[in-house]
This record gives sequence, structure tokens and C-alpha cells, in this order.
Amino acid sequence: MTGSGVTRILDLPSPNHGPRADGARVELLILHYTGMPTVRHALDRLCDPAAQVSAHYTVDEDGTVYAHVPEERRAWHAGVSSWRGQADVNSRSIGVEIVNPGHEFGYRPFPAAQMDAVEGLCRAIVARHGIRPADVLGHSDVAPARKEDPGELFDWPRLARAGIGLWPEPTAADDGPFDDAEVRSLLARYGYDAEAPRALLSFQRHFHPEALTGAADAETVRRLRALVRVTGR
Ligand SMILES: [Zn+2]
Repeated sequence: MTGSGVTRILDLPSPNHGPRADGARVELLILHYTGMPTVRHALDRLCDPAAQVSAHYTVDEDGTVYAHVPEERRAWHAGVSSWRGQADVNSRSIGVEIVNPGHEFGYRPFPAAQMDAVEGLCRAIVARHGIRPADVLGHSDVAPARKEDPGELFDWPRLARAGIGLWPEPTAADDGPFDDAEVRSLLARYGYDAEAPRALLSFQRHFHPEALTGAADAETVRRLRALVRVTGR
């Protein structure tokens, strides 16, 4: 799809939602993988009142999109999480689940038809709410101590080319020595809870998936500097 395709959306309502916090507006788009063996497991759980979890949408591997919760309502997808120092991510976000068994049940590439649908859905969400590219995030970005989704196989560069999220493009301005204090400071400026375990690993999972070490290296730092520079944070 090059932007002309129409994403087919099926209603599959979930009872798991509530009002957004007073004054909270949608400013984040949080992408997840379902991390369950099959799409059926995932859809059942997202609609099960006992599970107390949901998302606004789920995108199946064939590109089918299911709508669970109206966008004006607060869906229950992010759990204990934080971004830019604020903890109630659910009140400030739209949550999209992307079907994939995940690291626990056989993590695999996201098929083209699924990515076409993700791109179309996310383009519309970002436009409706005026969500800035720097605020299109993975679950692991806002909950680095607990989460790995959507993971290192997710095609963030493709979404960035479509204007959804950012992809770092370091220049010579981003070269140079670094230390741990600078890395923590940059992570925090961008929005991460820099004191959380695995914050830098989560950054790598999103922005430098070839280097899932959790340790600062020159290229990871160049990319981090580049992102902070272009966002002016
Ligand atoms: Zn998630």
C-alpha cells in the first residue's frame, strides 16, 4: 500500500476501557505485539472482562484490523509505564496491538500485508490527534523494565519514511566521546525513564536493533544524540 489503500476495520468491541484522566489529551501512539500463540488467543483475551486488558485496535498478520475501544476512551494496554516523566500512559495514548507470537512463543517477522495495514491505521490515528513523530513509541519504550514489544524485528524505518515516528539520521555533529552520565541524560531528555532497568536496551530495540547489548557504544550514542537534536528536547 502506498497510501491509497483503504484499511478494512472490523468491529470487535471490548468491555475493557474507561474515561481518560481529567484534562488528558491523546499525544502518544503506543505499538505492541500481542505475544500470544494465535490471533484467536489474543482477541479473546483483549475482549475478556476478567483479563482487564485491551487496546484500541488489533492488526492481524493478514492485514485485518479489529476495533475494540473507541479512541476517545482510555484503553488498558500500557500497564505500569512512563514517558517524559508522566506515568498514566493509557490516559494519553492510543494503543495498537500487532499480532505476533512474540519472544515467548516464536518471534517472527511482521508480514507485508500486516505492515501495510499498520501504516494505514497509524497514519490516520496520528493525523486525527496531531501526534508528533517523536511520540510514536513501542511498549518497551514506555515500560523498559517489563516489556520487549513490538521488538527488534518491527519495521520502524518504514513507518518513519511514512511520517509515523522517527528514525535517527546521525551527522558529524553527533560524533564524539561520551560517558554514562550523558547517555542517561539523553535518554531522559528524549522521554525514557532513564533510571529504569534496560532503558538503553529498549532504546536499541527501537532505534539500533543490530546492537541489542544494553551497553552504550558509539553508534547507539550517535543515534540517541541525533534524535534528541532533531526533536529539540
Ligand atoms: Zn505490549
